[in-house]
Amino acid sequence: MNGCVFCRIVAGKEPARIVYEDDRILAFEDIRPQGPDHTLVIPKRHVATLAELRSEDAPLIGEMVLAASRIAAEKGIAARGFRLVANCNRDGGQTIYHLHLHLIGGRAMGWPPG
Ligand code: 5GP
Ligand code: ZN
Repeated sequence: MNGCVFCRIVAGKEPARIVYEDDRILAFEDIRPQGPDHTLVIPKRHVATLAELRSEDAPLIGEMVLAASRIAAEKGIAARGFRLVANCNRDGGQTIYHLHLHLIGGRAMGWPPG
């Protein structure tokens, strides 16, 4: 999508540290990490928010969650634990309107989130 920074990363027009890639999913390091490990898992197709997912997108979101879980294992943070977050729309704190899962680990996190 024109003007979407994550679509530009998918197209290779914006640099990113790629962690994982397949036909439908891309994972790369967050530019402003909120912990020792902070990876973003996105669909290559432009979907603006979690709220826009339809029932036919169930395999896509499932693959994103599984990719995040595998990346956590590969980074060695799965046993200690990690957080998988999707911020949705204004109250959720979303700033980039291309769906993404935040995989954050490497430190203990508090609850509730701010
Ligand atoms: P949100 O606030 O929408 O949940 O998360 C957007 C995330 O994207 C933020 O954690 C932010 O640091 C990250 N981000 C924004 N622009 C870029 C970019 O150009 N490259 C990378 N790698 N991450 C970005
Ligand atoms: Zn996009």
